[in-house]
Amino acid sequence: MNKIYFDNAATTALRPEVIEAIVESLRSDFGNPSSTHAYGRAAKSSIELARKSIAQLLGCSANEIIFTSGATEANNWIIRSAVRDLKLKRIISSKMEHHAVLYSVKEIAAEYGIDLVFVENDKSGHINLDQLADLLKDKTPTLVSLMHINNETGCILPIDEVAKLVKENGAYFHSDTVQSVGKLKIDLQQTAVDFITASAHKFHGPKGIGFAFFRKGLLTNPIFFGGEQEKGLRAGTESVHNIVGMQKALELAYERHDEEFAHISELKSYFISKLRDVYGDQARIHGHENTLYNLVNVGLPISQEKASMLLFMLDMKGFAISRGSACQSGSPKPSHVLAEMLDEETIKFPNLRVSFSHDNTKAEIDLLISELQKL
Ligand code: PLP
Repeated sequence: MNKIYFDNAATTALRPEVIEAIVESLRSDFGNPSSTHAYGRAAKSSIELARKSIAQLLGCSANEIIFTSGATEANNWIIRSAVRDLKLKRIISSKMEHHAVLYSVKEIAAEYGIDLVFVENDKSGHINLDQLADLLKDKTPTLVSLMHINNETGCILPIDEVAKLVKENGAYFHSDTVQSVGKLKIDLQQTAVDFITASAHKFHGPKGIGFAFFRKGLLTNPIFFGGEQEKGLRAGTESVHNIVGMQKALELAYERHDEEFAHISELKSYFISKLRDVYGDQARIHGHENTLYNLVNVGLPISQEKASMLLFMLDMKGFAISRGSACQSGSPKPSHVLAEMLDEETIKFPNLRVSFSHDNTKAEIDLLISELQKL
């Protein structure tokens, strides 16, 4: 049976070099980074070198990066701390955020008794920036939380434009950049975003590790209590091997970016052209052109009975594909993201989210297309 992995927005395979770096770190960095002896110092040094390297790639300073267990934790921490410590009175976000943000903003706004406003989006999933500008005019102390790349549709937020707008109005800007870190080059010297988050398993690194970036001085209170790790902001013994693995994964993503961008972009165009050959305009590409180069979310003109079997059938044939985010993939309900974008008619068509990596090939796409044709 084929084994074809087209679910790189859910998670990615580790690169062999990343596995090697992790194994080497497990072997040699086993000291507790908080210990003062040589074993501890070696582990601590690996962590700080990783922090420096990641910061350099992103164009920020090392002390603006705090390692976390992943992006869910980082998003929760940032939203809560920003509201509490910066004494904010409103959050502006969007209903198309990943649940790690959507559920956090709802919970935290309710807990602190502040306003929560959702900015509108159009049918292709892009945020209404005029409405955002209007909302910000009243200068209420605000956190704007808008994701850079939507994990279900690949829709791209013009992050520089939003950052400029937010800063001109004296508000703070958090962007969940989980789907863009390691795929697009983000330069934090140019992009005036205050907070971003990342997760290594989305860029061919290990699971259970990520980071929060925050502009100097903006986060001053801990997420956890109990130790001085991560400058006292995130207590708990650091996952040294995972941090080293994340560093290696991000370095390789940057080193190979241009070549992999070209390859993956070509796969995406090829897939769309094949979908057009089979279904013509009946294949609805959600998000239209302005989507990330690695992802196609497509509505297919097939019956509801076949739709309910679609993922199961593809799984049986060895294809790993989702409909929406991994945590919702088993649900029969339409995804909350597509529900915000599509009209009642369009949402009835079953959708697939096909997300590519450098490991995929056109031959794999041909196999998928030929399976779809059998439906
Ligand atoms: N935000 C986005 C956009 C994601 O795609 C994901 C992962 O599915 C997360 C947040 C959560 O990240 P993590 O798996 O590191 O908790």
